[in-house]
Amino acid sequence: MEIVRTVHEMQTYSDEVRAQGSITGLVPTMGYLHEGHLSLVRRAREDADIVIVSIFVNPTQFGPGEDLSTYPRDFESDVHLLEKENADVIFNPAVSGMYPEPSLTNVYVHKLTQGLCGADRPGHFEGVALVVAKLLNIVKPHKAFFGAKDFQQQAVIRRMVTDLNFDVEIVTCPVVRERDGLAMSSRNMYLTSDERERAAVLNQSLEEAERLIKEGERSVDAILNRMRTMIQSKNPVKIDYVSAVDPDTLEPVTGIRGPVLLAVAVRFGKARLVDNRLVEP
Ligand code: AMP
Repeated sequence: MEIVRTVHEMQTYSDEVRAQGSITGLVPTMGYLHEGHLSLVRRAREDADIVIVSIFVNPTQFGPGEDLSTYPRDFESDVHLLEKENADVIFNPAVSGMYPEPSLTNVYVHKLTQGLCGADRPGHFEGVALVVAKLLNIVKPHKAFFGAKDFQQQAVIRRMVTDLNFDVEIVTCPVVRERDGLAMSSRNMYLTSDERERAAVLNQSLEEAERLIKEGERSVDAILNRMRTMIQSKNPVKIDYVSAVDPDTLEPVTGIRGPVLLAVAVRFGKARLVDNRLVEP
């Protein structure tokens, strides 16, 4: 496995493997890898000849007061895990390499970035779209792999790729969960053991909502109220949102008439946790 640290080296490598006819897959991450990330790497290993995993804590997607400086990092452990998965390359650029100057170019995907996490984290998805656009241009992968845990993120990326004609296939992989259903996340390490136990309510509320819908409940208010009550009973610091949206437009639905994305963002202790579930009535 190679570790590539500069943009130029990464571009040269990608050009070479593409010229040899290899199918390349990119898994963009911020490191501190867990089974959720590794599931994307395994899928990339199946779908591509050359698997490139980027590890880059992207400053432009963190807002003021967010956890950029404390975001967990463990590069040695990441290298070890990726060696076991037979990844071919880790792309680990320096911030100064990715942003030699502040970017005057912005990638703003309208509408899809307005609601859900976009409302609570202004500028976040612009930072994400910018860094993913840069990574796609640097690595030039045939396929890029994203997790459904960050559903809004993959929706924004898909739209950016379509609108800007990036020549890449976006593959979205299912949410990987802990035994009690908590979606795996690098930020789970911020939780105390008590908060960690209580946080399982996110997935429980999504399962309950799915059960209600499958049993015929069609009132969005009734479903969201039940979810809020369940989450509130576990004393979170704050519920950022509990929403039911159209999975394509991410706009709130007023009734359950087709597939619906139930999505939650809740703060327990120092962690802001997100989860979602796509439900077919
Ligand atoms: P991050 O390092 O948090 O930026 O995540 C990198 C990629 O891994 C993103 O595409 C995430 O959606 C994905 N990911 C993170 N956690 C999970 C999970 N529990 N299940 C599936 N994918 C995940």
